[in-house]
Amino acid sequence: MAYGRVALVGAGPGHPGLLTERARALVEQADVVVYDRLVSPRLLMYAKPEAALLYAGKAPGCHALAQRDIEAMLVDLARDHALVVRLKGGDPLVFGRGAEEAAALRAAGVPFELVPGVTSAVAVPAFAGIPVTLRGVSRSFAVATGHAGDGLQAHLDAIAGAETLVLLMGVAELPRIAEELAARGVSPDTPAAMVEWGSRAKQRSVRATLATLAAEAKRRGIGSPAVIVIGHVAADASLGAWFESLPRFGERHLLFASSAREALAHAARLEAEGAEVMACTWDRARAVRVAELEAAVSMAAHGRSVGFAFCTALGVEAWRCAVQRAGFDLRRLGNVKLAAVDGYVAHAVRERGLVPDARSLGEMARLPVEVWFVEAQSGGRDADVEAACAASGADVRSLHLLEPRPAPAVPARWRPCLRAWRDVVAEWLADGPAELWALGDPALVRPLAVEVGLGGDALRRADAFGLAADEAVCGA
Ligand code: SAH
Repeated sequence: MAYGRVALVGAGPGHPGLLTERARALVEQADVVVYDRLVSPRLLMYAKPEAALLYAGKAPGCHALAQRDIEAMLVDLARDHALVVRLKGGDPLVFGRGAEEAAALRAAGVPFELVPGVTSAVAVPAFAGIPVTLRGVSRSFAVATGHAGDGLQAHLDAIAGAETLVLLMGVAELPRIAEELAARGVSPDTPAAMVEWGSRAKQRSVRATLATLAAEAKRRGIGSPAVIVIGHVAADASLGAWFESLPRFGERHLLFASSAREALAHAARLEAEGAEVMACTWDRARAVRVAELEAAVSMAAHGRSVGFAFCTALGVEAWRCAVQRAGFDLRRLGNVKLAAVDGYVAHAVRERGLVPDARSLGEMARLPVEVWFVEAQSGGRDADVEAACAASGADVRSLHLLEPRPAPAVPARWRPCLRAWRDVVAEWLADGPAELWALGDPALVRPLAVEVGLGGDALRRADAFGLAADEAVCGA
């Protein structure tokens, strides 16, 4: 039997800027993404709307899947899917059990690829302003697990000499490790730091000494998942709190939009200022109905005068895809008229190298429909879309996005791990308060907010942000 491919991919510590290009490309192409607790849900925004998302981490109150179950899952999924992406926090081979998964895939004859990731061992200290090596201060760093169990003594003998000690999974054992290190001649006054949820909006860090770190972290409620750094670099101030000082650090924004593509354009600006962004989009909630759109595009390509009115950026994208699928050169669509409901959607039209003819089709374009099209009766190059719409007898049709998306095909055994996008968003929302933005017309995305359990209050705010979003993208 022929298997699809599995990619074991490092996702980095959470910040989207730390996802490698190869990792992003694979997530974009994946039919299935199997992800862990430490993978930021933001990174799943790159997945195709129809991709199956499977959570393989430990849910609150539940047991995590056993490692052998995850291995069986990957092999199983590769039977039915061309590309399965196993997305893991940090680097897959740094305490990530990537080698075990690779061995299981090899044993089953499943072709795989390994994509290294940015490990939290180096990146999380960096996001807290701590360099792991520093000229004149630290010439070496050792990365160790705090979960050494019975082997802790020998483990510490081996690493105690490193000038910088980086501990992963070390929060629970920190008091014992601190004692053991002191017994090996490491001064209790050695600077030490703990960084929780590095590179995320919820990043928090504490700097203390080897002797005081555990108590200080506990007092401030800082704990797992965290990276612990022990050594003089932990007191270094060269970098300052560069990440935590970004103007939007700690802000969380949830964007309601037509498509992930539209949301990502906005996310980039907010993230550059230090915010964390998630999105809830129509393209994940519903499937686009394309047959009618293709028929209208084909009419246009055969010289008929057709007007398209776009109400959302997803509508614009669906239209562009229909043109591309039909294999038409845009120059053949000379009789087409294009209208956009607002500045945001007009921007989406311009992004595709086209200029909208009319800005709004009034009442028609305020309805929750992605694309309207009209065949102007008069025909000819000068036919005006708005006039044609108003004229009685003009053939006006609309494309809705009303068909529910079919559930992705996943063997029954693994279905409990399946996560709908609204679950992913709801989980992210449970992490803390977020600002809510509607891109484009808030009325069009209202059902999305309801789907993730947000009520009227949230939507009032979304209205205000909708205006701001429009200005931000289309202003000047
Ligand atoms: N493969 C991962 C490590 C997995 S072990 C990597 O290369 O980063 C899990 C441990 O990694 C956690 O207990 C914590 O110590 C650390 N970790 C991973 N991501 C983190 C983050 N964003 N912030 C703080 N610690 C993190």
